[in-house]
Amino acid sequence: PDRSFSGRRALVTGAGKGIGRAAALALSGAGAQVVALSRTQADLQSLEREGTGIETLCVDLGDWDATEAALSKVGAIDLLVNNAAVAVLQPFLEVTKEAFDRSFDVNLRAVFHVSQIISQQMIARGVQGAIVNISSQASQRALQDHAVYCSTKSALDMLTKVMALELGPHKIRVNSVNPTVVMTDMGRINWSEPQKAAAMISRIPLQKFADPGTAMIQLCSEFVRVLEAAALFPLGASKNQSRF
Ligand code: NDP
Repeated sequence: PDRSFSGRRALVTGAGKGIGRAAALALSGAGAQVVALSRTQADLQSLEREGTGIETLCVDLGDWDATEAALSKVGAIDLLVNNAAVAVLQPFLEVTKEAFDRSFDVNLRAVFHVSQIISQQMIARGVQGAIVNISSQASQRALQDHAVYCSTKSALDMLTKVMALELGPHKIRVNSVNPTVVMTDMGRINWSEPQKAAAMISRIPLQKFADPGTAMIQLCSEFVRVLEAAALFPLGASKNQSRF
């Protein structure tokens, strides 16, 4: 089969930094026309300066109405990567309403909303679309101070399964990718403390965190393979994946 993404248009959320930015560049390198959505204009401008022809869309996915307005102008999308998320770490007993609401709004509600808009459009166009949700190992393991984040990602895994079930008949494949710690801004903020890091690293077979400078290249080629699988494998292959 043709394994390039040429002729396909991909929307990547949270593409200003970290994994989303790398995914946008990897997809663009694999031939897709990419729309990079993020919250900070300066990040999107620096992505435009990479000269890959990536289009950009600046919106806060925590804002339901602004998201709907921004996506009304996005054009045809064949592949959606729901990557944007926040990780606000607080001990369970100190979790605030603000952290809870912001986390669920961005990590879960926006995935519902963006996916509804894009999949309705895919169905109307009659295309075989694909959606990849970026979840986390935190969906399946209890992590200290991660009560809210773990809950959002666990809910996202179940959402991925129900979306796969309901969108499959419309020929839209839905998968998730569940990475371990990656040294993006999010990874650095939450995993730089040596004692905490050591406990996590001891459970990673390669005995190190993924780092966006070097391992990210490997992660991205792996990631593109997951995206390829999501985009191109027969519908029956659609399943919740855990690859990293
Ligand atoms: P980063 O914090 O490094 O980057 C996240 C990107 O998403 C930023 O560009 C950020 O923009 C954007 N974003 C966040 N909130 C919004 C919003 N409300 N609207 C629009 N854009 C938004 O995160 P990572 O790259 O590390 O994480 C990417 C994904 O991978 C997330 O889903 C995360 O949960 C998951 N993941 C990360 C792991 C890690 O160790 N890093 C491990 C497992 C999963 P801005 O900075 O402007 O807010």
